[in-house]
Amino acid sequence: MSTQNHNIQSKMFTKILIANRGEIACRIIKTAKKMGISTVAVYSDADQNALHVKMADEAVYIGSSPSRESYLKTDRVIQAAIQTGAQAIHPGYGFLSENSEFCRLCDENNITFIGPPIGAIEAMGSKSAAKNIMEAANVPLVPGYHGDDQSETTIKAAADKMGYPVLLKATAGGGGKGMRQIWSADEFSEGFDAVKREALSSFGDDTMLVEKYLTQPRHVEIQVFCDNHGNTVYLFERDCSVQRRHQKVVEEAPAFSMSETLRAQMGEAAIKSAQAIGYQGAGTVEFLLDVDGSFYFMEMNTRLQVEHPVTEFITKQDLVEWQLRVAANEILPKEQHELSIHGHAFEARIYAEDANNDFLPDTGTLSFIRTPVENEFVRIDTGVCEGDEVSVFYDPMIAKLIVWGENREKALKRLTKALSEYHVGGVKTNVEFLTKLVTSTPFIEENIDTSFIEKHHDDIFSDTPLSNAKRDTELVKSALYILLEQQNRFTNKYKNNADPTSPWNTYNAWQFNDKSLHSLSLEYAGETYDVNVEELTSTQGTQYVVTLNDTKYDCIANLKNGLLTTINNHKSSTMISIQDHVVSIYTPTGTLSVNHIQPDLGDHDSNDAHGGLIAPMNGTMVKILVETGEAVTKDQPLVIMEAMKMEHTIRAPDNGTVDTIYYNEGDMVDGGAELLAFTASEGES
Ligand code: ADP
Repeated sequence: MSTQNHNIQSKMFTKILIANRGEIACRIIKTAKKMGISTVAVYSDADQNALHVKMADEAVYIGSSPSRESYLKTDRVIQAAIQTGAQAIHPGYGFLSENSEFCRLCDENNITFIGPPIGAIEAMGSKSAAKNIMEAANVPLVPGYHGDDQSETTIKAAADKMGYPVLLKATAGGGGKGMRQIWSADEFSEGFDAVKREALSSFGDDTMLVEKYLTQPRHVEIQVFCDNHGNTVYLFERDCSVQRRHQKVVEEAPAFSMSETLRAQMGEAAIKSAQAIGYQGAGTVEFLLDVDGSFYFMEMNTRLQVEHPVTEFITKQDLVEWQLRVAANEILPKEQHELSIHGHAFEARIYAEDANNDFLPDTGTLSFIRTPVENEFVRIDTGVCEGDEVSVFYDPMIAKLIVWGENREKALKRLTKALSEYHVGGVKTNVEFLTKLVTSTPFIEENIDTSFIEKHHDDIFSDTPLSNAKRDTELVKSALYILLEQQNRFTNKYKNNADPTSPWNTYNAWQFNDKSLHSLSLEYAGETYDVNVEELTSTQGTQYVVTLNDTKYDCIANLKNGLLTTINNHKSSTMISIQDHVVSIYTPTGTLSVNHIQPDLGDHDSNDAHGGLIAPMNGTMVKILVETGEAVTKDQPLVIMEAMKMEHTIRAPDNGTVDTIYYNEGDMVDGGAELLAFTASEGES
């Protein structure tokens, strides 16, 4: 490459707009800050309080939550840039990043699009057009047919000629959609019609290509970078073979078992691909690498990839900084001979999804997040904080966990440890699945191709049940936690900081209720367990005797960084949280869920005659029908709560007295919270 840098003027931006959200918006803002560039975020209704909005210097509202009403609204994004005086737009990945129309709009408004030229995006937009260009540039292609004659006869003849299995692909496809394997000639017709239908409905274009289906390929991609002055380098490769539904979940760099010769050949082929379309900026050329070492061009992604951090770790470069420099017309920061590979990096994508249910995305509030400590070897790219929502509107990725080690083995150990320290509550996540995947023998032994997850399903999804003793300890902890947590909530709610003599300022709020025996039902792994907790208050604090399955456990428990317990003289600290009556216990091998079964409150919402009455669900206190100290009769309505537009009456469980009412009318009440303290009359039941 040539590196004459005379006459090259950098016009580094002073302000950029990031037309994206989530982790990638945050990641771009970090580099911009480092470079002294001001940032403008854009946001939708769902993202009013999102991390990317908080991190940016300015933020502009661009519409309602669905992406097509906000993040895909080209005119609003452009307007936001004009209004804030941003000189350039970084599109991140997804959304507008490969939209040539948007690129054109940027040009028309004198805003720099931080990405490739319009022509390059257009050239790679169609899989078959891209193949034609690559064929002309002598880049190896998977054998196949990608011509204009779209008749079934022609395409089938090509398939018959190369032999089965083949892969039918919609040329406009993406994200793993619009593809089907055909294993024999007699399946062809049916498959052909199916891909056509799916392509038409998903992409509005049913043009197809057919290629040889490789049965054990690896997905190896090359990171390339080109500046506006004719310089091109490759920043080595990433192996992204571990995929579910043709989408990546774990990536690594460099690829394992790569000879220097193969690396150089693939690097050169990637450079040829980029040059063939006059590329500028960051791009990724994806190849299929066959068992015999042959590799074939698959497609070129004309943007920054999700998995770019593994390349950053092994090359010690900041690729977003490179993008900004190239967009500002600078020459590439490094020449090829100045780039080398340092150690090994992994990325694990942490998703809100149910790995045990075909990776179905999950939504909900991230009620609990604890992550490994970030340092020079462990990096977390995320766009969410505890309390944020994983909504139906956007991608369910919670974070990317990226680690580095001197070699694959060391990096893998670090990844395993970091995953064991990654705890998320409130939604289902794939953390446990990832842990099993990266600790499985075939993964460690590099026995990996694109069907890794299906092939090693039993290794990855095997479940080791807890021993009975361990299970019982976790149930005891859950019971203690439920009680302490409830007690703590009341203490906080009624603590009168101005009055040090207030009884709420004494540590044990339960004294107030005179409630020393609690019974609860817990459910774990489909089984129900009855647990009794007796509180013994002494001068040393509160001790508990927990009875489960006729066994008694002597316990001391405190809420401190989770739950601190001494159970039969064994001390331990547990990371634990509760939401919607489900206790989550976070362990290095995964999260245990224990359900606190609520008494059937129905319209006779009541429970323990000797203690408080508990809110059956999250809701609002709409009416209080009694007063403190009032004597009431069994089944007398005491308070009315409202949730999901339905009223629930809480009635007296017995004849007795209402001791304390903890809420006022109009208050929001959490499900499981104690509403009032109640004492049943002596001698009656
Ligand atoms: P998309 O644009 O939808 O991501 P790609 O063409 O990039 O589709 O392919 C996605 C994945 O599908 C690849 O990573 C690979 O696992 C698989 N794949 C694609 N083409 C072939 C092929 N010819 N043989 C075997 N697997 C393939």
